[in-house]
Amino acid sequence: MEATTIEIPSVRCVVMQQPLYAPIDRDHLINRALAEFGTTIFAEMSALAIATNSINLGQGFPDTDGPEVIKAAASRAIADGHNQYPPGRGIAALREAVAQHQARFYGIELDPEEEVLITAGATEAVTAAIIGLCEPGDEVLLFEPYYDSYVAAIAIAGARRVTVALRPPNWSFDIEEIRRVITPRSRVLLLNSPHNPTGKVFSREELAAIAEFAIAHNLIVITDEVYEHLSLTAEHLPISRFPGMSERTLTVSSAGKTFSFTGWKIGWASGPRPLVNATLAAKQFLTYVNGAPFQVAIAEALTLPDSYFSQLRLQMLSQRDLLGAGLRRLDFEVLLGQGTYFLNIDLSSRQDSDGLSFCRELPGLAGVVAIPTAVFFDSKEIGRSLVRFAFCKRPAVIEEALRRLRIAFGEATVSSPIV
Ligand code: PMP
Ligand code: GLN
Repeated sequence: MEATTIEIPSVRCVVMQQPLYAPIDRDHLINRALAEFGTTIFAEMSALAIATNSINLGQGFPDTDGPEVIKAAASRAIADGHNQYPPGRGIAALREAVAQHQARFYGIELDPEEEVLITAGATEAVTAAIIGLCEPGDEVLLFEPYYDSYVAAIAIAGARRVTVALRPPNWSFDIEEIRRVITPRSRVLLLNSPHNPTGKVFSREELAAIAEFAIAHNLIVITDEVYEHLSLTAEHLPISRFPGMSERTLTVSSAGKTFSFTGWKIGWASGPRPLVNATLAAKQFLTYVNGAPFQVAIAEALTLPDSYFSQLRLQMLSQRDLLGAGLRRLDFEVLLGQGTYFLNIDLSSRQDSDGLSFCRELPGLAGVVAIPTAVFFDSKEIGRSLVRFAFCKRPAVIEEALRRLRIAFGEATVSSPIV
């Protein structure tokens, strides 16, 4: 073969002095909107419980699974082939069951086609609702302490959180305080009753005042009612039932707490079509759908007789009282709520009154894990002396935790009142 020589003209290379992007700083990769949240306290404390072989009264999950018949329904749904993507809004049987549940317990009428949306737990429902409804700069009003995912969701949406404090020991609030923080950018009021981490169940009067306020200021209300069946000593009143509220309220709940299947992550949002559609607009790009066979099983769970729901409540109430009384005997000031899985102790009258250091030392000292309630506050000072304990554990486990605490703290002679 004959060789040809090709002359390549010399090429001038321009070397950029300034790189277009700064070199990657591996320690600061996280979007600044999220960096402030770090790892969730639940993951951190549950890992600590495992590492120290402690009893986990931190993260709120039951240590007993829900009904066997519902587990069997999930297995059957897998065997029967419910294993591909369900419809975007959730399987029809579950949407129907959610609508019937709302009618059975609260007299709320919903169109399962357009007013119910199945989500990956209540977490996704709240997050998608906030992303779907809020634009950057919009303000979300919420009570502090708050469930941790709310503020992350608000940050992801580029919205701004505005908090109003619930104050111990009764977790009361001042409606005037809400009036003071409202601005033309206020768009959503995010409510949670029964309330994590305080155990507060908002009263009829409080809900009426919030409803009146929301109407007067044209706010959308997102209400997280995951503990609706764990209103232990008070009546659960959905805020959407208050006059003028159904048209502006998106109600969120989930199967996790009601059926003791927190790992299944089946939740739902219900309410007027525009609010459900706004939630769906974001939800379809978060997970699109989840948990097909679990959706089938939860559709069945929602039809369990009333006795299932009342037994769950009574069981949790007796566990609350067991833990509350045990802690009181150890001379802790106990703030019992009226609902949820949680109670708080207040360390303010003790020498070691800092909840965070108390929780750091507790695993080593007593082999028990709890959560420093301050992490749920923006106004850390209000929650500084508070510690949250979960009582969704078997009585024998609660007894064992109390035995360990008794060894660490000694039996007290004077008991402080249960508030
Ligand atoms: N809201 C509140 C108030 C909670 O306490 C929790 C956690 N248990 C959730 C939402 C999350 O619910 P899910 O697991 O259904 O996402
Ligand atoms: N809701 C549970 C609690 O408050 C925990 C849920 C979670 O781990 N994200 O303890």
